Amino acid sequence: HPSIPLPVDLFGAWKNSGGIDLAERTILAETAAAIAASPPPARGRGPGGGPTLTTSEPAVEAGGPPPAPSRTREGVASAIDRASAAFPGWAATPLATRAAILERLADLLEENRIELMALAVKEAFKTIPDALGEVREAADFCRYYALQARTGLAPITLPGPTGERNELRMEGRGVWATIAPWNFPLAIFLGQTAAALVAGNAVVAKPAPQTPEIARAAVRLAHQAGVPEDALVLVTGGPEVGAALTSDHRIAGVAFTGSTPTAKKIAAALLEGNDRPLVPLIAETGGINAMIVDSTALPEQVVADVLTSAFRSAGQRCSALRLLLLQEEIAEGVIEMLRGAMELLILGDPADPRTDIGPVIDQAAYDKLMAYRDSAKAQWIKTVPVPATGLFVPPTMIRIDRPEDLTREWFGPILHVATWKAGTLAETVARVNAKGFGLTMGLHSRIARSAELVEAEARVGNLYINRSMIGAVVGSQPFGGEGLSGTGPKAGGPHYLHRFCAERAVSVDT
Ligand code: GLU
Repeated sequence: HPSIPLPVDLFGAWKNSGGIDLAERTILAETAAAIAASPPPARGRGPGGGPTLTTSEPAVEAGGPPPAPSRTREGVASAIDRASAAFPGWAATPLATRAAILERLADLLEENRIELMALAVKEAFKTIPDALGEVREAADFCRYYALQARTGLAPITLPGPTGERNELRMEGRGVWATIAPWNFPLAIFLGQTAAALVAGNAVVAKPAPQTPEIARAAVRLAHQAGVPEDALVLVTGGPEVGAALTSDHRIAGVAFTGSTPTAKKIAAALLEGNDRPLVPLIAETGGINAMIVDSTALPEQVVADVLTSAFRSAGQRCSALRLLLLQEEIAEGVIEMLRGAMELLILGDPADPRTDIGPVIDQAAYDKLMAYRDSAKAQWIKTVPVPATGLFVPPTMIRIDRPEDLTREWFGPILHVATWKAGTLAETVARVNAKGFGLTMGLHSRIARSAELVEAEARVGNLYINRSMIGAVVGSQPFGGEGLSGTGPKAGGPHYLHRFCAERAVSVDT
């Protein structure tokens, strides 16, 4: 699309991604134009606009009451009314039709990628490569779950004595609540929702309060693809909307991605009330994710993978590297290389294709991260300067003495570094496991026995050896953790859909 003027030289862009082809140049140009043409996000803050935040009021979409906190419960209840009424019809829709609708949705996501990418940049401050990743991952989820539904949710005939027919059926449970985070406002929002829908459930979907517009666009496309309007109802707002949703006894299951404390609150809410049915919770939460590097690792590769794992998406991924554990002998060398490499990171407007790292999501996140960072000033190894205005948290490397010194997840571009002694690999893994989180772990080593040891001992959902620790691919790297990091089953994996289903065994004496 050569006629659209761009703020930068395209050939200088995406230098870290190994170059761009013609199709990507077109996407880049169109996205830049769409971003320029669209209004700023409703909550009135932006990377250039300084750290301001207007909190959004709870609201219920399409037919709900006006967005006043006192009406929240009523509005959520009416959304559940609608979804409950739509459930029987949707559950009775043939599995093949539901799967085909998901595939149509994947096509629509791709056809509308420019609008969706522009929303991801504007609303969630995604960089352009990250915004493209969002659309691709959302489409992948839809296609993968459609395929899984066709093969994995069809009724199974089971053995029995002569004269008896046994069948196992996977059916929708009712109305699911899907509660999504702002860091993957399209991919996770739609992944959870598409899985619940294709399994035969109606859905009331709640995006994060920071990212309602991209969710609105996704729901519009789902309806366009053929999901009945009331089988997928969007509710927007903050924690009070989530609480109203999960406390309603008609909710048949909750798929949640967000913080560990919120997951625990949801789990508690789902148990309240003597007559409340027992329903499943699928929770994917955070982690204190470590990468262990030994003296046989290739330093250049380590540095590239640390940069990606810790700082891409401004460190705002559940999977992101938080704790780098370097074998003592190589620590100073690797740190020195990392310091140099961090200098090359470009912080700036996420709409500029040259940008590696954009602003963090909101004022609250900014304040929390900056306060922590400043409190750890004495331990800084490296911090990178940032643009003068906007919610930019400087990528920072902080030295700690022991893995135990990092006790919580800091959801931003802050990397902690500690060392370990040769011969203590098993102990080092055990010390990471002891944190109780279990989302991602990385290992850089050329020793096969070390890899085997870590594979056997790491208590994480996703282990990455000699590569970066982010960007799990749907269908190849099912994603999700254990312990404080979540319940499973893993998104983008072959067992995910089953949790959304009621299993019914039917035996007929013929
Ligand atoms: N699936 C994403 C990744 O592998 C992380 C998802 C999240 O942050 O919740 O990077």
